[in-house]
Amino acid sequence: MSEPLIRALNIKKYFPVRMSFSGALRGEKQKWVRAVDDISIDIYPKEILGLAGESGSGKTTFGRTLIRLLEPTEGSAIYRGVDIYKIKGSEIKSFRRKLQIIFQDPYDSINPRLTVRDVIAEGLIINKLVSKDKIDEEVAKALEDVKLTPPEEFINRYPHELSGGQRQRVAIARALVLRPDFIVADEPVSMLDVSIRAEVLNVMLDLKEKYGITFLFITHDLALAKHMSDRIAVMYLGKIVELASSEKLIENPLHPYTQALIAAIPVPDPSAPKVEVKIKGEIPSPVNPPPGCRFHPRCPYAFDRCKVEEPKLKEVEPGHYVACHLYDKS
Ligand code: SF4
Repeated sequence: MSEPLIRALNIKKYFPVRMSFSGALRGEKQKWVRAVDDISIDIYPKEILGLAGESGSGKTTFGRTLIRLLEPTEGSAIYRGVDIYKIKGSEIKSFRRKLQIIFQDPYDSINPRLTVRDVIAEGLIINKLVSKDKIDEEVAKALEDVKLTPPEEFINRYPHELSGGQRQRVAIARALVLRPDFIVADEPVSMLDVSIRAEVLNVMLDLKEKYGITFLFITHDLALAKHMSDRIAVMYLGKIVELASSEKLIENPLHPYTQALIAAIPVPDPSAPKVEVKIKGEIPSPVNPPPGCRFHPRCPYAFDRCKVEEPKLKEVEPGHYVACHLYDKS
């Protein structure tokens, strides 16, 4: 395998829980939401790494912290040999340009008062990437890349004159003109009508092929993660619990949580064999995660060790990592 494009090393992101005035007076201890709790993972050039899990698992916080949209509590993010958490001042701007994000809600992430041209051109102008006379050409090229064609039909429109899918493609074009190496795509189609999701997803797959862009594709939908990704990491309560190639993870899931997520995917043939794992209850609060394995209160296979000892993410077969005592005989 090639060198990673980005290495996440022991990343933590904790948020302080707001204390009541009376609690503060009583000297109560500050509590923390441990949204991302010690994640290490390598992301390779030109891959799409799916990041899957229920809502509340910390996927979005991890994606944003990885590219420093959120400041980490601890850890490092090594991009092209540089820890991006350590860079300061004007250097941050050039790294930020290379590490982009597409947000879940295309209605919220685009300024409604700007035309499509201005939305896409903004980053080009701020980063002084092309001369003024080349801006329209670059914007038109980006619109073609995201299949909003002919560009002259879209360039002067306002966001309210576009469908949700078209807005999301404008958001992709806005990231694309900055010539990024890496894009965090945070549930990019979950707010779109099912009928237009494929168009947006295909645009992303085309961009990966054409420009070799690496993606972190965040989704709660494992079937979608499989369709889009080369590898999938499954997150639960701030931790990665399983990581493997998409095929391996879907065909041979090892962690009981992954098995339960897969069991919940509707299949065209209900008589087809599949592992039936039913999990109990809701995802617990990340303020007070269960001791030992965080999944133990919901796990049908939990045994004594699970309640006291946290399982580490270990490679159990080439390229397949799992954090579960069932596979760790040490
Ligand atoms: Fe279940 Fe124990 Fe494995 Fe956690 S470590 S997933 S509780 S069997």
